[in-house]
Amino acid sequence: MRKDVRILLVGEPKVGKTSLIMSLVSEEFPNVVPYRAEEITIPADVTPERVPTHIVDYSEAEQTDEQLFQEISKANVICIVYSVNNKTSIEKVTSHWIPLITENTDKDSRVPLILVGNKSDLVEHSSMETILPIMNQYSEIETCVECSAKNLKNISELFYYAQKAVLHPTGPLYCPEKKDMKPLCVKALTRIFKVSDLDNDGILNDNELNFFQRTCFNTPLEPQALEDVKNVVRKNLNDGVCDNGLTLKGFLFLHTLFIQRGRHETTWTVLRRFGYDDDLELNQDYLFPPLKVPPDCTTELNHNAYLFLQSIFDKHDKDRDCALSPEELRDLFDVFPYMPWGPDVNNTVCTNDQGWITYQGYLSQWTLTTYLDVQRCLEYLGYLGYSIIAEQESQASGITVTRDKKIDLQKKQTQRSVFRCNVFGDIGCGKSGFLQAFLGRNLMFQKTIREEHRSYYAISTTYVYGQEKYLLLHEVFPDFDYLSDADLACDIVCLVYDVSNPYSFDYCAKVFKQYFTDSKTPCMIIAAKSDLPEIKQMYGCSPLEFCRRHRMPPPQSFTCNTAAAPSRDIYTKLTTMAMYPHARLRCMCTCNRCTFCLCQNFLNSELLQMVRAKLFAVVLRRSLPIKLHIFSLKCTITNLCNYLSLFIVLSLFFKMMVKPSLFNRHVSQADLTTSTFWLRASVGATVFAVLGFTMYRVLLKQR
Ligand code: GDP
Ligand code: MG
Repeated sequence: MRKDVRILLVGEPKVGKTSLIMSLVSEEFPNVVPYRAEEITIPADVTPERVPTHIVDYSEAEQTDEQLFQEISKANVICIVYSVNNKTSIEKVTSHWIPLITENTDKDSRVPLILVGNKSDLVEHSSMETILPIMNQYSEIETCVECSAKNLKNISELFYYAQKAVLHPTGPLYCPEKKDMKPLCVKALTRIFKVSDLDNDGILNDNELNFFQRTCFNTPLEPQALEDVKNVVRKNLNDGVCDNGLTLKGFLFLHTLFIQRGRHETTWTVLRRFGYDDDLELNQDYLFPPLKVPPDCTTELNHNAYLFLQSIFDKHDKDRDCALSPEELRDLFDVFPYMPWGPDVNNTVCTNDQGWITYQGYLSQWTLTTYLDVQRCLEYLGYLGYSIIAEQESQASGITVTRDKKIDLQKKQTQRSVFRCNVFGDIGCGKSGFLQAFLGRNLMFQKTIREEHRSYYAISTTYVYGQEKYLLLHEVFPDFDYLSDADLACDIVCLVYDVSNPYSFDYCAKVFKQYFTDSKTPCMIIAAKSDLPEIKQMYGCSPLEFCRRHRMPPPQSFTCNTAAAPSRDIYTKLTTMAMYPHARLRCMCTCNRCTFCLCQNFLNSELLQMVRAKLFAVVLRRSLPIKLHIFSLKCTITNLCNYLSLFIVLSLFFKMMVKPSLFNRHVSQADLTTSTFWLRASVGATVFAVLGFTMYRVLLKQR
């Protein structure tokens, strides 16, 4: 909104400019007036539009032309005053004043004009007949008003119109010659209609109209008022109302009517509420609300934002196939000034058999944008009308800024849900294949991807201990000398080599030694193209030996040359390592396959550590004579958590005992979902939980 309004009064001498100002201020007609009134400022709270308003007088006797020109260029609105009983003063409006103002103002930002016919008390007839042709001739004339400084007639109205001309100008909205709204205004209102059409059926039904009314004007429409509005449209337009709701045509018609009847502040209120500025562009303040992201923190969408995006997806997935066809996608982005997603997005996220972005893929892409470029995400959410539809202060309230990664490492836990994995490897070693396989694409499919549509990112979800997490893979360009901080900053590093190329491991070893030997970021070596015959790597030691020396998990065999979608186990493993970078998911033997390794991994797992710490804390608390005030409630909650953790741990343990072969596959997350497993696990865990609870009661009684 504008900070203040500057109104300048010009016109021939003696038409009553000074008297008009004095009458407004003192609310009585001054018999004697100076040549020129002092500039006055009306405070915001006494003006109708709540904006401080300066009123500036002009006097030929006291001011030079230069001073006048300066005042003209400073004014936000100019009132050209004439006297209704003085023909010459009317003629001068067109012969002198309008050309003079045009010369002294910017062509692009024409200052609105108001024609003021003063001394209406002196004549019986109106000057409107003479004035209307002038109004039609000059589009910058906002309105005209007849008044009398003597009778105090229309004085406050005059200044209200002047204020309104600045705050709610008709210029950008309406073309008087064509008697229609201007294209930019139609475009903005069309976007507003689409955003407000929550079910995307092309009609604003009563619910949507009420919501719209409430968001724009803070009050819902009375049922009768709603009917009246629709009736007005019905009367004037055949297809303005459909199925008892307002169509886009009807909506636009209604606004044309508002403007034509001088109620353009209504249209402006709507436009401003949806983020438009005076030039009908979306405001920068609206698109980019302030959001502070300290270093080492990342940005994610919160639950609210996901719900909103979900509703947007549902609204546009008209055939309910859980994917967006190109047409549906275009429709979704129709409220954007440009198409934000190029063909590379289809190779960044999961798509369906037709290559259309799935629901999962759609949310993944949003997650990616939020993570990599939060400003862009704010902008996009702004186009979709997030703050309005989700009734939030701004798009920023849809973003979670995660805590500093250093704190995560210190506390050995993280609340993040997006983890970044940077993939390094020599040219042609299979990095892209590794990224694409995450999207469920085998080698055959990958060959169909056009070079210009390829992406250096891949993002999808994995499940770690039953929680859904996003893993963002980024293929780093294999140029040693140009690795930026961004290339190195990630939660897990993947070093890919090609088992069939004897020179490819060398690159991995070099990258590791140069950048990650002392880094806290966990690393994993991927032995790609494992379907091809393995050739001895031309490096000082074997990859397995390299891993052992640097206390890394052994190289993970990987191939995307599969008949079906490649296995996702490796990605789950990567996410787990990214989530628990401190957990030693490795043991002395590093084979990661034998029972020893598995037990070691299990004992070192975050979960068990946590349970151990909790139990320890509970026992310690009991044995020390410390008075705890809110003990009982807090303790119950803590213990419930303990039992829950115990339950999960025991389930895992039980599973290992019941079916060790499963464990030999490195506790694949997918296995955890099989129902027989959970059945067995539940029985075992319940027994332990009951036992544990009995122990707990006994201990409590002792206290
Ligand atoms: P300015 O030169 O345009 O500032 O005009 P003034 O305010 O000095 O007014 C010129 C003369 O017109 C004064 O004698 C005023 O009293 C008189 N006058 C101003 N407004 C009115 C009005 O509304 N009705 C009548 N009858 N006289 C007015
Ligand atoms: Mg004067």
